[in-house]
Amino acid sequence: MLTGVTRAFSDDIAIDLGTANTLVHVVGRGIIIDEPSIVAVQVRGGQREMLAVGLRARAMHGKTPEPVEIVRPMRDGVIADFLATEEMLRQFISRAKTMLGFRRPRILICVPAGATPVERRAVYETAASAGARKVYMIEEPVAASLGAGLPIDGPNAFMVVDVGGGTSDIAVLHQGNVIQARSLRVAGNAMDEAIMRYVRRVHGLVIGESNAERIKIEAGTALAQPNGRDIEVQIKGRDLRQGRMKSAVLGRQHLAEALAGPVQEMAEFIERALEDLPPEIAEEVSKRGIVLTGGGALLDRLDVALGKRVGATFVVPDSPMHCVIKGTAAVLESLAERRHLLIAP
Ligand code: ADP
Ligand code: MG
Repeated sequence: MLTGVTRAFSDDIAIDLGTANTLVHVVGRGIIIDEPSIVAVQVRGGQREMLAVGLRARAMHGKTPEPVEIVRPMRDGVIADFLATEEMLRQFISRAKTMLGFRRPRILICVPAGATPVERRAVYETAASAGARKVYMIEEPVAASLGAGLPIDGPNAFMVVDVGGGTSDIAVLHQGNVIQARSLRVAGNAMDEAIMRYVRRVHGLVIGESNAERIKIEAGTALAQPNGRDIEVQIKGRDLRQGRMKSAVLGRQHLAEALAGPVQEMAEFIERALEDLPPEIAEEVSKRGIVLTGGGALLDRLDVALGKRVGATFVVPDSPMHCVIKGTAAVLESLAERRHLLIAP
């Protein structure tokens, strides 16, 4: 039996609009959409026609008579292409509405803590025009912390580092408020690019971004074990000089070397953030454990590598890629008690 409160909120949806992936959670049903933030666009006679979004857009790639362009409408956590973002949200919301019996849902959507008022407004307007009855907003690190199970309303301070596609976002929370927020344009995509540069430099091979991402997910590591088991991946690419297809084998040691640059940049960024905090808060969050969320947190031994470099403890919660959507959904499910976490458009 549904309680009165659950029923009242059962047409509400939570959205994590990410640079790499967008997730939609329907109250009472869980995550119904977890798809890449992409739109398939065809240009005909100067007009842009948006054909599909998410997984459907990816499936279209290379399978249409006329060329289809794959657009990533979000960049560095903010909207870069308004019309494409709106279309993507409209299609995702429309799928949720089909499940909800065609009511216009109330939407809780998160925005990066460092977003400007203009960027926040853009997210608000886009969600509103994509078919919401009412739009609420929350800061992403607040959602990520709740999703990671941190007791943010208590007296303690926490540092959360969300490693997404485009950016690594640091936030420090104290008594439920974000007291520090900053963003570095080094995260998952930069790791892919580092792998591309490495195989080009060492093996003279040119590989694409999605190939590099696959290699990272299969065998990437932030720190090779000294005597550890080696995982090897085969890479195929175009030979830089002869232009022919060629293959090579990469071990974990090589991938740790390839990824050392972005990992070091992240470590320095976290160190600077700690230095800029009041010393007692910096000490508290370093001891308690800096929480890593986002897909990038899944990189093998990223917590250990950052810990060594920064001299702090790092922890990775369960399903780090779902922390933001889980936290957003949690706020939506108890909107009355958590109203203070909402931010104005
Ligand atoms: P965003 O919030 O920006 O949409 P996500 O939190 O969804 O980003 O994370 C996407 C990033 O996580 C991508 O760069 C992806 O390659 C990376 N990623 C996903 N799984 C793994 C993994 N197992 N190891 C390393 N990186 C991963
Ligand atoms: Mg994210």
